[in-house]
Amino acid sequence: MADPVYDLFVIGAGSGGVRAARIAASHGARVAIAEEYRVGGTCVIRGCVPKKLLVYASRFRDEFEDAAGFGWSLDEPRFDWASLIAAKDKEIGRLEAAYGQTLAKYNVDLFAERATVSGPNEIRLEKSGRAICAKTILIATGGTPNVDTNLPGVEHVITSNEAFNLKTLPRRVVIAGGGYIAVEFAAIFNGLGADVTLIYRGEKILRGFDEDLRDGLTAAFAARGIRIISGDVFTRIDKSAAGLTGQLRKGGALEADAIMFAIGRSPNTASLGLETVGVKLDRQGAVVVEADSQTSVPSIYAVGDVTNRVALTPVAIREGHAFADTVFGNKRWTVDYTTIPTAVFSTPEIGTVGYSEHEARAQFGDVHIYKGRFRPMKAIVAGRDERMLMKVVVDAASDRVIGVHVFGPDAAEIVQMAAIAVRLGATKADFDQTMALHPSAAEELVTLREKWVAPGEAAG
Ligand code: FAD
Ligand code: NDP
Repeated sequence: MADPVYDLFVIGAGSGGVRAARIAASHGARVAIAEEYRVGGTCVIRGCVPKKLLVYASRFRDEFEDAAGFGWSLDEPRFDWASLIAAKDKEIGRLEAAYGQTLAKYNVDLFAERATVSGPNEIRLEKSGRAICAKTILIATGGTPNVDTNLPGVEHVITSNEAFNLKTLPRRVVIAGGGYIAVEFAAIFNGLGADVTLIYRGEKILRGFDEDLRDGLTAAFAARGIRIISGDVFTRIDKSAAGLTGQLRKGGALEADAIMFAIGRSPNTASLGLETVGVKLDRQGAVVVEADSQTSVPSIYAVGDVTNRVALTPVAIREGHAFADTVFGNKRWTVDYTTIPTAVFSTPEIGTVGYSEHEARAQFGDVHIYKGRFRPMKAIVAGRDERMLMKVVVDAASDRVIGVHVFGPDAAEIVQMAAIAVRLGATKADFDQTMALHPSAAEELVTLREKWVAPGEAAG
């Protein structure tokens, strides 16, 4: 029997692909999806979800320490990496099955193999060699971790992909990079008891984030025993019976049991057949798309990390949804990329939405800054010397709150809510008129009254 002609064939069953497939099917389209690894994609299988589970695990150290301040006494806690990984794998397996069930419920045909594009309306399944026709093709193949392929000894390094499945917890971990994944894993391994060093090519970690957040995390990492080496990179890595040795460009070497690279991710477009059918890629290999996710070939669309717009799960999901509504549901809409909240799940945590102080000054000129640094109530009683930061950036001309930055416990949860106000265009006066919820850390955001004045700057 001949293969059916699908209305939509999705390549990649990750955040963006699964959402697009489900919504297109709900609009009545006949849909198929191909997945070469595991249904759920990066976020579910080896990204956000397992990462957050490891973050939870790593934070029990603080809880155990802080408990003493509240009258608890505990025997020496012990941690077992294998149990954590088994629990993580169980949950990932459950989610993977749930994603599969959703696809089945919407009658989406799933091909568990690699797919490539062989024509504007044709897909080739690699394992079975079948050619499949589709009126529309969606590329949702995500990204893959970068390593420095020219580095001698690069075969000895791991990336986040492997970090989730190490057989044992490395005693000494060196992480290369200074972005999201590097700092999140530095905190995870530190909390679980490893000796952690971060090596970053620039001067200060988390480039692009508000300076107060960058400074806050740098200081907190130092206090927690995470060593940051800035302005340096590896020049070679050697393996011996004693472990790994990484040579540094500025001289000296670092010994480790695991060296993890977290130096960004690249769009998954290699050998996908896109160039041969005329789909335009940019210099990083990302699929070039219009606002509605259409590529240079009208029957082919792309969403998510493969387009290198904003590499976050909720963004990929929304792009997939907008695509499916627009093409199959007769409901045209595009994704709004302004005020995307984001968190860095380091310990302490970062939550941020809108403009950093630096960006705001460049864009708006006159801005007012409000910030409060304080020890959360729990930290005082626990004897933990870590401060929380709440920072509000205001456009002086309109009084609009254009940035909210939180550093400390629950920063992600707080900023998700603040993002609604920022998106709605709330003014500082609206924040001030909002009744505080007491006692909470978040109340600080609505009780900041004093404009912050930079040292040496006159109050105005
Ligand atoms: P993916 O989810 O990567 O899905 C692509 C799928 O396509 C994969 O399953 C892949 O196997 C498959 N595929 C690729 N090529 C083919 C092919 N030729 N044939 C068949 N299948 C193919 N984002 C957040 O918002 N919050 C977080 O906390 C967060 N944490 C992260 C932590 C880590 C360690 C990493 C790596 C990422 C994290 N992200 C986070 C980013 C998030 O995971 C991605 O933005 C999101 O998964 C992108 O979704 P996607 O659909 O574009 O691609
Ligand atoms: P990031 O872009 O966040 O950070 C990459 C880091 O690697 C930067 O510090 C960068 O330095 C450095 N770097 C880049 N190239 C090199 C090189 N050749 N040699 C040495 N260092 C280098 O990427 P990640 O890999 O951390 O994460 C990928 C993306 O996944 C993130 O950007 C984010 O979109 C998403 N993600 C989101 C998370 C969340 O929402 N909590 C968590 C994890 C990932 P420089 O600053 O100088 O460019």
